[in-house]
This record gives sequence, structure tokens and C-alpha cells, in this order.
Amino acid sequence: MGPLALQVGEARVTVFNVGDMLFGLDEVYDKSVDLSRYFPEGKIGKKARFPTHSFLIESGGAKVVVDPSDYSRLTAPGHFTPPPGYAPPPALTAQMKSVGVLPDEIAHVVVTHLHFDHYAGVTRGAGGNAHPTFPKADCIIPAKDWEMASIAEARKSKDPDVVDTLVAVQEAGRLSLLDGPKGLGGGVRVEPFPGESPGHQVVAVKSNGASCYCVGDLFHFEEEVEHPDLVASWNEPGEAESSRVRFYRLASDEDAIVIPGHMLPGKVSVKGGLASWKTLAP
Ligand SMILES: [Zn+2]
Repeated sequence: MGPLALQVGEARVTVFNVGDMLFGLDEVYDKSVDLSRYFPEGKIGKKARFPTHSFLIESGGAKVVVDPSDYSRLTAPGHFTPPPGYAPPPALTAQMKSVGVLPDEIAHVVVTHLHFDHYAGVTRGAGGNAHPTFPKADCIIPAKDWEMASIAEARKSKDPDVVDTLVAVQEAGRLSLLDGPKGLGGGVRVEPFPGESPGHQVVAVKSNGASCYCVGDLFHFEEEVEHPDLVASWNEPGEAESSRVRFYRLASDEDAIVIPGHMLPGKVSVKGGLASWKTLAP
């Protein structure tokens, strides 16, 4: 399947899947979580495939890439295992070229949070040869994530996953640490919704009364929309839950298109205090 283009007022949001991942619920939740309270029996104890999304937002002349990923880096030895026999789609820049957009047209790159699947594509090349994939863009990352233990330790130990990506962007003078909301022009805004990570942020697109949100990993499954307290083992629980409750109300009020990092686009509706998820018809 090729990239999925969504019209949001006069803006366009293109969703690219850089490759599927295989995951089981037991890898996401703490052992103490009674999964049968939340999930149908068929989903428990099985691995399922999930896309890894990167996004292109074109609005009012602004071109923004959100969460550039790189499947070859994600599936390098010691990382994720691809589904058996899986042939991944072309790389992000090749998919972008197929919709007529070249890397040097991009003005901003936004990373929702510093988990590898969301920033693996900020550079190309390795060692001294790692250079920003989008040479003219600033790379906006959450300041709180840059300081979080996993990233601070990886920078200190010179872990190539971080040195060849985020540190290479920093050395190219393109890293922009953000702590709070920021407008990028063309009705595109970055807004903090912490919990998945200390500085987790989402990207909002508003045009002609329509709205769309690229929400990173604010939630991972539709069951987490119905149950905002169902949080991943690595989440900060209180923060994740209050960010979700705040976001679900907002998305429902605006009838917004919502695109998570690892789920197909959908909409959230809140009725009588209960949120639910509906995947958009393809
Ligand atoms: Zn993710």
C-alpha cells in the first residue's frame, strides 16, 4: 500500500508506513495488569503487526516532517525483529519522492518523543558520515527527553543509535530543544502531552475549521482510548492518563482526524465522560 494522503481543510497530511513491527501486549504492559479486563481474548498472548508511521504536513507553504523513521536502522542486529518473510516498503525519502517532495524542501522536523522508532531517520549515514536527512530543517525535539536518563546515558556512552542520529543533528547545528508549545506557521503547532516520555509532544494541523493531530505514542491501542488509565510499563502513569483525558476531549470537540504512530488514522469521540475510537474508513 502506498502513502495515505488526508485532506485537512486546505492542508494535506501524508502518512508513510516505513515498516511493520511485531509486538505482543506482554511487551507493552506491566505483568500486574490484568489484560482480560481491557482486551478481547483473541488479542491476548499473541503477537500482532503494527505500522511505524512518519508524516509529511503541507500547509500554507510550510512543509513539516513528523517522526522520521528508518526501518533499516530499526531492524539492525540487536534491535527489533521484522515479521517473518516481511518485505518492507521503500525508505521514507523514497516514499516522499513518490509524492513529489524532496528532503531540502522541508523547513521543520518534529520528533514527538525520543524513542528510537520516532527519530531513527533524522540522519543518513554512519560514524563521521552521518548527516541530517532534511538538510535545511531544524529538528525540534522535546528538551525534557534530551535530558531523560536513557538518552543522557546513551550520549555519554556514545551509543551509535544516538550519536549517528540526534548528536549528528546537533553537530550540524540543526537541533532545537523545545519545552512548551510552538507555532510553525501554516496552522501547524507543537503541543506538549507528556506521559509516554517526559517531554512527549503532538503536532496539530488546523486549516479552514478542520483539524488533525499526529499524536506520536500518546496511546498504542484503541483500548487505551476507552481506558486512559491503561498505560504502558514505561509511561509515567498519572501524567499519561491526564494527557490522554485532556487530548480525547479536545479531539472529540474538534471532530479532529487523529493519527497515532502505530495505528491507522481515526477519530475520538467522548460521550458521557467515556472516550471511544473509530478507525477512519480507508
Ligand atoms: Zn513508537
